[in-house]
Amino acid sequence: MTDSRRQVLKDMGIDVWVLRDNTEAAGSATKGLLNAAGDGNEDNWNSLQNEVQACQRCVLFKSRTQVVFGSGNVRAELLLIGEAPGAEEDRQGQPFVGRAGKLLDAMLFAIGLHRDQVFICNVLKCRPPNNRNPQPAEVESCASFLSEQIELIQPKVVLALGRFAAHSLLQTEAPVYKMRESNNVLPGTEIPVVVTYHPASLLRNPEQKAQSWQDLRKVSQLLETIVGD
Ligand code: URA
Repeated sequence: MTDSRRQVLKDMGIDVWVLRDNTEAAGSATKGLLNAAGDGNEDNWNSLQNEVQACQRCVLFKSRTQVVFGSGNVRAELLLIGEAPGAEEDRQGQPFVGRAGKLLDAMLFAIGLHRDQVFICNVLKCRPPNNRNPQPAEVESCASFLSEQIELIQPKVVLALGRFAAHSLLQTEAPVYKMRESNNVLPGTEIPVVVTYHPASLLRNPEQKAQSWQDLRKVSQLLETIVGD
């Protein structure tokens, strides 16, 4: 393990000894990250992006500054899904660029990944005012956008960040602590969905970080198994 990665884990409040046997395997999960499929999906991706940018399906279009479609590698093996843009994301039009985003970057770094190598998006593409919880009708309005993103990216592993992402993907109301212990798959597919705590929840409850590190190791191991070298 490199010193900088060790430092990041330390800053995350994670005991470094937990890593000893797995760090190099985690790092090697970055190999082969680009999906080999040289597909002709670019047009579909661009038209989806245009459609989302112009969306007025729910009331959130009235209060948004910018739509946050998502960012990263559209052929990523790993897709991360959060809840909804916050104030900073709404300003910049990019997902996870606030405080929770900094932590997410550190979490990715800890498993040898950079946000450019994965794709990051949210259940909702527009910010709910005052960061209130997404309403069921808003989640439903946005659902087909997320499904199309998944369809086009064809990730090998999905990481659901928090309960809104997990509930929306897995069609369950189960609590996060239960879902993180299950072997979930995206309904109708064989794509594993690892459920973990939302980075904003980790900021409020640092004692959850050790468990979130376990979840990240699970992601690494799945990528290693599925993608291989
Ligand atoms: N929280 C989220 O769920 N998504 C973001 O993009 C930022 C914060």
